[in-house]
Amino acid sequence: MYSARLQRLRDRMARLDVDVVCLSVGPDLTYFTGYEATPLERLTSLVVPRDAEAVLVVPRLEAARVDERPSVFTLRAWDETEEPIRIVADRARTASVVAIGDHTWARFVLALQEALPRARFVAASAVTGALRAVKDEAEIAALAAAAHAVDEIAAAMRAQTLGGRTERGVHRELVERMLESGHERANFAIVASGPNAASPHHDPGDRLLVNGDVVVCDFGGTMHGYCSDITRVYCIGSPPAEVLDTYSNLAEAQEAAVQAATVGTRCEAVDAVARGVLTDAGLGQWFIHRTGHGIGLEAHEDPYLVAGNAAPLGPGEAFSIEPGVYLPGRFGLRLEDIVVATVDGPRRLNQAARDLAIVD
Ligand code: ZN
Ligand code: ZN
Ligand code: ZN
Repeated sequence: MYSARLQRLRDRMARLDVDVVCLSVGPDLTYFTGYEATPLERLTSLVVPRDAEAVLVVPRLEAARVDERPSVFTLRAWDETEEPIRIVADRARTASVVAIGDHTWARFVLALQEALPRARFVAASAVTGALRAVKDEAEIAALAAAAHAVDEIAAAMRAQTLGGRTERGVHRELVERMLESGHERANFAIVASGPNAASPHHDPGDRLLVNGDVVVCDFGGTMHGYCSDITRVYCIGSPPAEVLDTYSNLAEAQEAAVQAATVGTRCEAVDAVARGVLTDAGLGQWFIHRTGHGIGLEAHEDPYLVAGNAAPLGPGEAFSIEPGVYLPGRFGLRLEDIVVATVDGPRRLNQAARDLAIVD
């Protein structure tokens, strides 16, 4: 699997005229080697020349954590007195274009630029993003399992009492439930109530949830390496007519965008579908973010469903569809599912009920 991925990387390097890819810490490295490096002041770098063998440069004391894959890369452990930038630069000496991992610490990028004064540096995501965006069957199964785990949490929350609790208390419950459900990590759990819900990335605080509140819960974690991300809305007691109307417009926009997310459709066209429904309902100006983001090893990755992204969706691409409406000082709503574009049409990975949940 890793050899095949590296082969696809080299094919793309050839197409984009990139001579060497240098991947430090972050999900690109994991994707191509299976190794999850600890972010350290000591340099880790997978050096992939287009026409020579790949070398994984790691600090000696980290080498024991690497699963060696001789058919994929050669391990080059460096000792405390060695200069690792030199080791990487030597392997990129003749390169005109170096693609550098997006998560590489600036100090390493600067040192490498100094060591390779004639090379042009580009972001590795320009090479790796399109590769990682297309998920294979095992990756889709992992995303589906993670989605199923948060679906069950979203469903369980419908039976919970939210009134009288704080945002932070509900946040903690979501985090604990994610860890109990098999996620190795909880990445975020937004609980935004009442007027706070008008801020899409609200940081849960001490606000007490009261009757009549709309509560937006947007949470996700990492399970077997792959991310989950779901948003559901709960209303404490019966919702005011305006909330009900706005929610039905939002649900319609989300459904339309999911149905539009077919193979070959431009990313920006999917965004335009969701935006069109909300604009027709007079709510367009309150939908203040893109419609969705790719998801995989990272919670946010290519493809981005946003105006200006003319790239067509390919089979196996996984992404969120999450339109929202945010009325400052009043309330906010968002509805989010993870969807995969397949040759048989859009496949929703999240199945939790999508209606506005009425809770105590
Ligand atoms: Zn977000
Ligand atoms: Zn989310
Ligand atoms: Zn999301």
